[in-house]
Amino acid sequence: MKQSTPPITPAPLATGLLALALSACQATPPAAFHEGDGALVRADDVLRAREVAQLFDQLHPLVTEQLPDSNCRAREVWIQSQPQLYLFSGATYQEADGFWSENHGRIHLRNDAQSLARTLAHELVHSSLGPSWEVLPGTIEEGLCDVVSVLLCPDNSTGMRTGRLSAAAFATGGLELEIELFLPAEAGAGKVQIGCMTRMRLQGEVSPDFDPQDVFTIPAGLSTTDLPVNDKKALYGLSYLLVDRIVARVGFEGLHDLCLEAARQGLAEIPAPWLMEAGGMESSGAGKTWRTALRAAFGPEELQTLVNLYPELLEDSAGRVFGPRAAVYVTHTDRATVAASVRVTGTDSTLDLRLEVRQEAFARADSPRFQE
Ligand SMILES: [Zn+2]
Repeated sequence: MKQSTPPITPAPLATGLLALALSACQATPPAAFHEGDGALVRADDVLRAREVAQLFDQLHPLVTEQLPDSNCRAREVWIQSQPQLYLFSGATYQEADGFWSENHGRIHLRNDAQSLARTLAHELVHSSLGPSWEVLPGTIEEGLCDVVSVLLCPDNSTGMRTGRLSAAAFATGGLELEIELFLPAEAGAGKVQIGCMTRMRLQGEVSPDFDPQDVFTIPAGLSTTDLPVNDKKALYGLSYLLVDRIVARVGFEGLHDLCLEAARQGLAEIPAPWLMEAGGMESSGAGKTWRTALRAAFGPEELQTLVNLYPELLEDSAGRVFGPRAAVYVTHTDRATVAASVRVTGTDSTLDLRLEVRQEAFARADSPRFQE
């Protein structure tokens, strides 16, 4: 996220008064600080400030090493329980784990962010991109920040990836999963393997006019952009998907080359078709293209995260075989009696699981059946 310059210029007479009013509402800096090599870090206690200062010094050279025309402009980092610039700010930043304020040269981070290192890396990208990157559409910059942050802080990044990708998939027609359950031959009558396949579609609530191509036109990360939260998450997800594909194909250099070419042609922004093409996506029939690319991004690791996030996927499927009160546990023990596989419809990547289903549930089971 970055702070945009307010668009309204007050009349000269009012300027002094407005400045006074704003400064009165600035959030108080956290009490403790540590001066690192690259930045002054403020936090509630000095140990935390030192820890983040070390993280800053470790990450900022790595960010600039990855990206052409980059130079870190952040001079201060504030660690807050709620990242904020002003005491009485609106809801815009309330869900954010961090943001970059260009005007203050300052990164703000949530103390209990899901991953403080990854959030810091994301904001360091915003704070480091040089002038030649200005033709990159605003939300595409968010995808770039996410891709760099996953590259530099890969630990436990599957949850973040899956969150981004599923928000985008739920908003573009839903994500259809095929869940198959197999009983071993000895558990079924007549010593034949019995199976059941269920299809489920995960969908999210977005605005009825949500259009994936808005990723090129709506700056979802700006504090001045007011978007329903699911639309915003979906745009971040689409951007992450696209930049991940572009970087896999042509690297950060290739993406930067598009910036240089757009500037050479006097364009205000890189045209959407250039970015789609660089990501190996057709720009015609965009809805279908996005859906295909999103499906392909779900590998076994992302599927595992989805199953953890939505246990009802397995429970509902098992309920169809063993009755509605069946209790299902994913397990690796000898008690696993049911094999399961989860796949995104139309793709090959499959997550294989072993499940334990309660014995009393077995006793209640009606005849298993195949279901479309
Ligand atoms: Zn951002």
